[in-house]
Amino acid sequence: MFEALRRWRRDRTLRSLAIPDALWREALAALPFLAIYTEAELERLRDKVVLFLDAKSIVGAGGHAVTPLQRVIIALQACVLALELDPDCYDGFESVVVYPDEFVPRWEWEDEAGVVHVNDDPLAGEAMERGPVILSWADVEASQDWDATGMNLVIHEFAHKIDMRNGSANGCPPLPPELAPDVWQATMQRAFADFARKVARGARTAIDPYAAENPAEFFAVLSEVFFVEPALLRREYPDVYALFTRFYRQDPAARTALLRDDA
Ligand SMILES: [Zn+2]
Repeated sequence: MFEALRRWRRDRTLRSLAIPDALWREALAALPFLAIYTEAELERLRDKVVLFLDAKSIVGAGGHAVTPLQRVIIALQACVLALELDPDCYDGFESVVVYPDEFVPRWEWEDEAGVVHVNDDPLAGEAMERGPVILSWADVEASQDWDATGMNLVIHEFAHKIDMRNGSANGCPPLPPELAPDVWQATMQRAFADFARKVARGARTAIDPYAAENPAEFFAVLSEVFFVEPALLRREYPDVYALFTRFYRQDPAARTALLRDDA
């Protein structure tokens, strides 16, 4: 009964809030890494995007007015991670806040000695536990050129959101039953230790050295690489790549290979 009602509401939303073709094509064109997705996958992604936009409000801040194209570009990238995950993977928060550029979040925290610190570092993005995802539009836009920037802000912040489903971000999101937590921990820790060692000795890395910051950033940065330049992650950390194919239930490097065979 509830399942039937849920499906009826879902179908009604998909019909009434459908994204116009021209807008959809324009958003896809802005995100060249999606070229490896099949038509069938893109159709499912489009449904996910409609449901995401229905469930979340994407609001401007700091004088930024979010355009319809910007909403779709943000939602599309958020839904790339969620394509094969449970539909409730983004439950627990309602909004995405978009600033025109980097922003300075006003959070305070108390250290172990009881001293209160106030953040004054500008950020490109932030995922707040049980709160919104905050993005700088300038950096979302810069992310569209992976070859130039090597970053994907939206995928990064939504990877943190997935990680936060079982508490604060620590690089270990809730795992599906078929993925053993000790396998996840061992694989990620081994790769993190290796990467942190390389960065510490000043080696040039093909992956953003920010990943060496801590296990949570490692998971978020490697999720960006997994979706946008999958062959790089498969080459650098094949064990992590294999783990992510089981976690995200996608194999983006195989899609790239197919594309190359077609060409
Ligand atoms: Zn981060």
